[in-house]
Amino acid sequence: MKRLANFINGQYQAPVGGAYLPVFEPAKGAVYAEAPDSDEQDVALAMAAAKAAQPQWAGTSIDERYRILHNIALGIEKRAEELAAAESRDNGKPVWLAQEVDIPRASANFRFFAQAITQFASQAHDNGPGGFNYTLRGPLGVVVCISPWNLPLYLFSWKIAPALAAGNAVVAKPSEVTPLTAYLLGEICQEAGLPPGVLNILHGYGHRLGTALTSHPQVKAISFTGSTRTGAEIARVAAPLFKKLSLELGGKNPNLIFADCDYDKMLRTTVRSSFANQGQICLCGSRIFVEASLYDQFKADFVEKVKALKVGAPTAADTKVGAVVSQAHYEKILSYIQLAQEEGGRILCGGAPVQLDGEYANGWYIAPTVIEGLAHDCRTNQEEIFGPVVTIMPFETEEEVLQYANSTEYGLAATIWTQKLDRAHKLARELEAGIVWINTWLKRDLRTPFGGVKNSGVGREGGFEALRFFTEPKNVCLDFE
Ligand code: NAD
Repeated sequence: MKRLANFINGQYQAPVGGAYLPVFEPAKGAVYAEAPDSDEQDVALAMAAAKAAQPQWAGTSIDERYRILHNIALGIEKRAEELAAAESRDNGKPVWLAQEVDIPRASANFRFFAQAITQFASQAHDNGPGGFNYTLRGPLGVVVCISPWNLPLYLFSWKIAPALAAGNAVVAKPSEVTPLTAYLLGEICQEAGLPPGVLNILHGYGHRLGTALTSHPQVKAISFTGSTRTGAEIARVAAPLFKKLSLELGGKNPNLIFADCDYDKMLRTTVRSSFANQGQICLCGSRIFVEASLYDQFKADFVEKVKALKVGAPTAADTKVGAVVSQAHYEKILSYIQLAQEEGGRILCGGAPVQLDGEYANGWYIAPTVIEGLAHDCRTNQEEIFGPVVTIMPFETEEEVLQYANSTEYGLAATIWTQKLDRAHKLARELEAGIVWINTWLKRDLRTPFGGVKNSGVGREGGFEALRFFTEPKNVCLDFE
């Protein structure tokens, strides 16, 4: 059995307490590795290493930081195949998806922030003959990055890269459910020439290791992606300690489909936005509102396409839907399908586990599920399911669909499908969401602000927003008079 280790001060180290937690392969429903079940003792070592390394890293030239982060991007590319296989094994996602999306994006994150720091600048405010102000933007010191299991290396690197680029030392914790690629990243950083202690990677449970990290007195900022419930818990612990917080949380994203849309593109994209990564992307559209005049046609075509999606082993090239990430999550998704039926929903396709054969017989597979007949305000349509389950609902007017779309406590992303420019832009302004896509989905430009409103989060990642988060502004005023 593979045994993972923490990465502290540039070295792989066993957890001080000697405890390990099981790591499952969702495709087989079996344990295949173990990861450190770290505690305060490991946190103390990582924090000491980070504190010692940070001043020198902050003093490293922008060129040198660019070079090292760029080397990390190249290191990820060089080991892309191995990383994609690891990601798929840990998470249950199809290998081809990890090859096409997760790993290239992890590399792109390092490349992007390597470049971004070379373009990052602060402001000056000229007071004419009276003098001027300028703003310094230095690193914060030691920061904590905590990430979830759905896009493991992709989201881990999305936080770590800007934190390092800005001159901070990082103590990072991947999800205990999917630790493998974060474990491999240590080696890649070593080879890329990242000085020891600048990035420390600890493995362990959220309630123990996570809390030890977020409450640590040395930590200046916490960048967190995960559930709204955990985000609230981190805020409860960290806010009284005056730590800077960036919280990227859950979603319940609406798709607004109008009869005048580019139908084929919409249909193709909506299948993807519903079921990519088994529906376990925070940006997946799980509430699909369709203009009444298009509803029956959409329902027939959509259900036909969804039924054709092959659920299968993540290693098979023709698998479109792999395993969901864990037994607990599998049971949660099935309980929501049950709830939807109790609330009066009709299952149009899916709605049940899928039983595979042979070594995959105990894996956690759920057929992509489409449900109709539910009110916009029932629990199924208000709570995040985060699996291969969507609801479809008809609407008559723009006002009505806007009210439905904005009716949840979440506000991460929304998608609008229409050819009418004025309608698209008016709705984009009025939708309560941090990200609105018009006639597309998941088209990402890493320079843009990324994040949600309402219970989907606080703060923005991406581009200079991330570099601003990971730096402290200091105003300096000079008087000429
Ligand atoms: P989670 O909140 O259970 O865990 C996320 C991370 O937080 C894990 O590393 C976990 O160990 C850690 N953690 C748990 N309790 C903690 C605590 N008390 N203190 C500190 N850390 C703690 O989330 P998950 O189940 O891993 O991920 C799924 C959730 O993530 C969904 O709600 C999804 O919408 C959300 N998500 C949001 C975005 C976004 O950008 N907004 C992106 C991806 C996923």
